Amino acid sequence: MNNKEIMDMAEQYVLHTYNRFPMAVDHGEGVKVYDADGKEYLDFMAGIAVHALGYQHPAYNEALETQLHKVLHISNLYYHEPLALAAKALVTSTGLSRAFFTNSGAEAIEGALKAAKKYAFTRDGHAGHEIVAMRQSFHGRTVGALSVTGNAHYQDPFLPLMGGVRFADFNDLSSVEAAVSEKTCAILLETVQGEGGIYPADPEFLKGVRKLCDEKDILLILDEIQCGMGRTGSMWAYEQYGILPDILTTAKALGCGVPVGAFVLGEKAAKASLVPGDHGTTYGGNPFVCAAVAAVFDIFEKEHIVWRTRTAAAYLEKKLDELMAAHPEQIKAHRGLGLMRGLALAETCPAGKVASLALEKGLLIITAGGNVLRFVPPLIIESDDVDRAVAILEECFRELEA
Ligand SMILES: *Cc1c(COP(=O)(O)O)cnc(C)c1O
Repeated sequence: MNNKEIMDMAEQYVLHTYNRFPMAVDHGEGVKVYDADGKEYLDFMAGIAVHALGYQHPAYNEALETQLHKVLHISNLYYHEPLALAAKALVTSTGLSRAFFTNSGAEAIEGALKAAKKYAFTRDGHAGHEIVAMRQSFHGRTVGALSVTGNAHYQDPFLPLMGGVRFADFNDLSSVEAAVSEKTCAILLETVQGEGGIYPADPEFLKGVRKLCDEKDILLILDEIQCGMGRTGSMWAYEQYGILPDILTTAKALGCGVPVGAFVLGEKAAKASLVPGDHGTTYGGNPFVCAAVAAVFDIFEKEHIVWRTRTAAAYLEKKLDELMAAHPEQIKAHRGLGLMRGLALAETCPAGKVASLALEKGLLIITAGGNVLRFVPPLIIESDDVDRAVAILEECFRELEA
């Protein structure tokens, strides 16, 4: 089937919850993606920060093929080697204690919220605790995750959501202090806000929240579903702040293409929260996805992916600064950490329009909230990939200026 045939059929049968770009992906190779008509694209969105290793990584593919011929799924009622290896790799890399694998990011958030509530329940002997979350945050589309997503547009049609959530302003410690009460069991935030428009946490803010949590025995949940797994130039973004969360959520690049997420508990939360019977999942952490996770950690280490990310990020940062300097009318700000960057555009220059034009010119790039052009490329990009992407964007901005 060609692009048009695929798009027409999908439009007839798929529930219309996405305004898709007019293209049907056929396959990927390295940092390139090919559509059903054979056109090549340079990928600077990586399946929304998923394909850290690009496409068709040989060792990754081999691990999946090997597991395919052993067993794909068995249920969490049995042990298996991929689970043990994946959990060990994840826990070791985080500095935390115990991992629970989920099928998605939203489910990792759900589990993290339950673990925090159970921790406070165990400590206090009663329920009724509250969560403090941030405005302009994004934590997923399931009801619990949506309840802590500080975005009226996403929430309003589905009210009432889970109760007991208070919102504070990101990077405003006094606002967080004001939202905390005797009932607060957890403070939840993204170390780098993604969907909200690529806003890294200020070091003083995050350290202040950590201190507040320590003083009041509140659990700090860091959502690194998008910004974790090497993306910011450290395996976990929080490493750059010199703190540890009590609970970490991860997904997106954790499996580099297979649907897997996790919440990871530090020792305090692991010791006194979820116990047998409290939580479960049929698919979560099955042998297939865990084989992928174990392979991903192995490849990250062997190929020094985090170190390479830093090099590529420094170059991308410089090039985007230059792009901004060349188009001051259209590009208002450049923010980010590592290979998670955003260009905030002027109102007269819709980010969606830039992304559509870039697609025509062979570049896959996406947007984030607040008219931001979002850069979350594979972590294996090289300087000539950056040059190519920036050259295409240069053309887009010049055409839109005219
Ligand atoms: C993508 C994302 C989620 C939701 O993950 P899904 O796998 O889409 O459910 C949650 N938090 C953050 C920060 C994300 O970027």
